[in-house]
Amino acid sequence: MKSIYDYTINDLTEYFLSIGETKFRASQVFDWLYIKRVKSFDEMSNIKKDLIKYLNDNFVLKTLKLIKVQSDIDVKKYLFELSDGNKIEAVLMNHDYGNSLCVSTQVGCNMGCRFCESGRLKKVRNLNANELVEQILMVEDDIKDRISHVVLMGIGEPFDNYDNVMRFINIINDPKGINIGIRHITVSTCGLVPKIKEFIKERAGVNLAISLHAPNDEIRDKIMPINKVYKIKDIMDVVKEYIKETNRRVTFEYILLDGINDSKECANELVKLLKGINCYVNLIPYNETSHIEYKKSKKMTINEFYDILKKNNINVTIRREFGSNVSAACGQLRSEYSKG
Ligand code: SAH
Repeated sequence: MKSIYDYTINDLTEYFLSIGETKFRASQVFDWLYIKRVKSFDEMSNIKKDLIKYLNDNFVLKTLKLIKVQSDIDVKKYLFELSDGNKIEAVLMNHDYGNSLCVSTQVGCNMGCRFCESGRLKKVRNLNANELVEQILMVEDDIKDRISHVVLMGIGEPFDNYDNVMRFINIINDPKGINIGIRHITVSTCGLVPKIKEFIKERAGVNLAISLHAPNDEIRDKIMPINKVYKIKDIMDVVKEYIKETNRRVTFEYILLDGINDSKECANELVKLLKGINCYVNLIPYNETSHIEYKKSKKMTINEFYDILKKNNINVTIRREFGSNVSAACGQLRSEYSKG
């Protein structure tokens, strides 16, 4: 049965009209779901009995089951089971500006980035919009607080599940619902260029982050198979188009891998590549995982890399390291749980 959390307010209204109900009823139900946060249709006390029965007969609410939580001081990791038994993760990070939730978008991932734990499990299926929405609802339930920021950086490639991801963004952005500001939502992609083009046309406002991880095709080819399809030049072209159309800054993520992409030459090459582009570079100390041989760059190397970018007027930060004790790297909790 379909989950009612899969519906935007427009879809719900259209559906209600098609069954002879009113627009007003649809917004009442939406309010029960997202403002009052009921756990069953029976709690919707201003909805007439026959409609409640209809909803019970035709929809479910939650489909996710929380099976494990791991906490650290500033990070909390959630393992969920989907209705078909597959498992996904979400990671909550406590920032000074609020609670940020990193959500998964697929079961597994087909992008095959060599350094990434998630990709060790090939894509089993896309998550539906409701399975994304429910990650937020369940974590807010757990912490009894609001999530202010959402990053689509968990397991999966969001642009390989484009329609469900856009539907999810519409649902959580609704001011009469969960109401997460559009500028507080970040989609991270390994660089599916045609989808970035589509995204530019329809979703100005959502932040775009690109997992670049290398300053040239030679290195990127080795660590990210997607680079065989879309080259760095293709990415830079579409990024320029994004900036021109949306007037917004792009984030580049750059994992520092010891001896692979962290040399001074790499830093200088990155400067050349990004010079004059309205962007921001997030240097990510690699979170080592037991199955993959890559190592985290040395602290001094990270700092030197940072300095070169900084000196050349590239906006840059080193990502604060969250919860290496709670398997916070993508896919680690699922992988440990299933002894994968
Ligand atoms: N597929 C999307 C989003 C999921 S990955 C993308 O590629 O952007 C989210 C980010 O985490 C990416 O930048 C990814 O490269 C990075 N990442 C993956 N494994 C990591 C690890 N072990 N340590 C640090 N960052 C990692």
